[in-house]
Amino acid sequence: MKIICIGRNYVDHAKELNNPVPKQPLIFMKPPSALLINNKPLYYPAFTENLHYEAEIVLKICRNGRHVQPEFAHKYYDQVAFGIDFTARDVQKKCKEKGHPWEIAKGFDNSAGLSKFINLSSLKDSKHIEFRLTKNDEVVQQGNTKDLIFDFNYLICYISQYFKLQQGDMVYTGTPAGVGPLEIGDQLEGYIEDQHLLSCEIK
Ligand code: ZN
Repeated sequence: MKIICIGRNYVDHAKELNNPVPKQPLIFMKPPSALLINNKPLYYPAFTENLHYEAEIVLKICRNGRHVQPEFAHKYYDQVAFGIDFTARDVQKKCKEKGHPWEIAKGFDNSAGLSKFINLSSLKDSKHIEFRLTKNDEVVQQGNTKDLIFDFNYLICYISQYFKLQQGDMVYTGTPAGVGPLEIGDQLEGYIEDQHLLSCEIK
């Protein structure tokens, strides 16, 4: 199983971090050991002083495939979850400045918060999925997948040119504006439409 993540996939988020809007999806990965499931708490890592949340819709890949063509892309995912791409922003900044890979800032243990998966067919509209993240009961991120720069089907085609999609893989599809820092004691809650799917305390 692999965890494929997309960076800068909402215009308003690319702008808030002063990054250019990409012409092709920006891909990175997290190792399976990054998964944080069952609403477990996240222990603030010792190597960062600027841990950020990034709320994302996560796709679950349901069949194997390479070089997927656009007309078939929708057959490769059938469930979504609420995910948090935890990011050590200070470490990432240093990596970017040096032109180094991001893995230590993005792929560390428990950096991939994940709710249970729900069927896409249970949602009102699988192309306009509303989601939101609250921190200490205040809404900090609110997104809708209609605003994705590269939509789910485009991502499936693009990713599968380089990496064989395998059943059980996950795709973190990018975060909308509103990312921000976390402190010990913060309580996060994630929602897709009106379903409360994820809780995470920072310890
Ligand atoms: Zn992200």
